[in-house]
Amino acid sequence: MSESPVTIDLKYRGVPEAVASFLFRTEEGPVLVESGPSSTLDALRTGLATAGVDPESVAAVILTHIHLDHAGAAGWFADRGADIHVHPFGVRHLVDPARLNASARRIYGDELEELFGEMQACPEDRIHPVEDGGIVRYGRHRFTAIETPGHARHHHAWAIRTDRGHTCFSGDVAGMRVPGTDHPILPLVPPEFDPTVWNASLDRIDGMGFDTLELTHFGTVPDPGRHLERVRAQLAWETSVATHLLDDPGLDHAGRIAAYRTKLHERATSAGVTDAARKTYLDDGGISMNLGGVGRYLKTSRSEATRADLGSTEGPNTNPSG
Ligand SMILES: [Zn+2]
Repeated sequence: MSESPVTIDLKYRGVPEAVASFLFRTEEGPVLVESGPSSTLDALRTGLATAGVDPESVAAVILTHIHLDHAGAAGWFADRGADIHVHPFGVRHLVDPARLNASARRIYGDELEELFGEMQACPEDRIHPVEDGGIVRYGRHRFTAIETPGHARHHHAWAIRTDRGHTCFSGDVAGMRVPGTDHPILPLVPPEFDPTVWNASLDRIDGMGFDTLELTHFGTVPDPGRHLERVRAQLAWETSVATHLLDDPGLDHAGRIAAYRTKLHERATSAGVTDAARKTYLDDGGISMNLGGVGRYLKTSRSEATRADLGSTEGPNTNPSG
């Protein structure tokens, strides 16, 4: 068993409780779960120093997946000798992030620096691919990889027993949460979003009987079963809403965004989300991303359903964020 982690709020774009990194002080040096994006590296280094940890001394970074908001800053630590533990599918994007960065540049343009910054390359000999069920040990700390696709194909949640009980670092698979509420926000991002696969991942986590979840976006969930139920409901509802909007030939992109926004905001308000929190945490960028993710999923699943050939049609994962 290990001590529970220190949650470092990276104050992403000045917003509290948006993106976290988690610090464990182990017998073999400091270990982070998630590095956050490059754009908040200074905040992470400050948070580590405040916790009495020299950022240069970080022994390892354990990643849930390689989207920029979770892994963008990992390379800085790898360059200083930290070991990076990640799903095998994520390795090549950490070694050579050019494609991922180019994809991010196409989506975000000049705003990329302010949003996430680029992914810094990690030296290949510092990266350790971890299969489903693999265990990463640092002193008394044992982190077990739980393959949990649906948001991204290369997604691991990580399980560890701490003095808070059996804890799961859920990355994006258990969704995000509007601070101060139990209302989930879901990143249904292209090109790998798959609601069926995602539901199976939620069932898997639920079946493991965790005492707490630690959300990267953001913080401790003390009632995993009820939280996961809300995530399931939101996933079904939002996939259905987006599907109807995408299938409506009378709507253009702007019309779909507006209609999606109205429905999302109504649902959030009825769940107790204030206007101020809604404006901060439910933005049009997320809505556009979700329409893209559901659209991509529908295109793929419908074309597969009409083809005898069920071979993979997916390109490599290059979605940079979410
Ligand atoms: Zn993500």
